[in-house]
Amino acid sequence: MDTARLFFAIQPDNAIQATLGDIAKHQSRQSGGRPVKPENIHLTLLFLGQIPVDRIEILKAASGNFAAQAFELTIQRTLYWKRNQIIVASADPCPSALFSLENALKTAVHVAKFSFDERTFKPHITLVRKAKRHTATDFQNPVRWQVTELQLIQSIQTERGMRYHTLHRWQLG
Ligand code: ATP
Ligand code: MG
Repeated sequence: MDTARLFFAIQPDNAIQATLGDIAKHQSRQSGGRPVKPENIHLTLLFLGQIPVDRIEILKAASGNFAAQAFELTIQRTLYWKRNQIIVASADPCPSALFSLENALKTAVHVAKFSFDERTFKPHITLVRKAKRHTATDFQNPVRWQVTELQLIQSIQTERGMRYHTLHRWQLG
């Protein structure tokens, strides 16, 4: 049975990916870690893992069929998650609309009988992996991200690392 590695996420536009990508590069030099490529910068809402390819249409039909509001994220600091050895960008304050979206998505996916990791949602944007240390980032201006769509993304392993392929987009109201 063919499967695909899938997750739901929000992805900022190219300009914000470039800004956060620069911070990732800068932080990777200081931390000895590996920066996330700008085009891969995202915030995961729900990780599904391997899903049989012939169930993707069912998944798409079940997901995003709820009224979720568009919202804004303000990103103005990076943090070090020592246990995971990652440097992340965090949205603060984190609007309740983000948690509502994650919750609605979880319910929809659960009703459609897909299983997923039940761990508590800790919103973060990974910037550097295998980081040994972190120094605070001086954000010249807070990054303001208008979140207007939800994406279903397939993660594809390539010789040059992971490549993300968007399978479907849902507009947020
Ligand atoms: P790599 O694993 O090569 O470093 P990646 O983590 O970007 O690349 P995936 O492992 O496919 O690619 O993960 C896609 C997204 O899902 C990432 O945001 C990742 O943090 C998240 N993720 C991966 N595995 C899990 C998991 N078991 N539980 C929750 N989220 C996960
Ligand atoms: Mg991974």
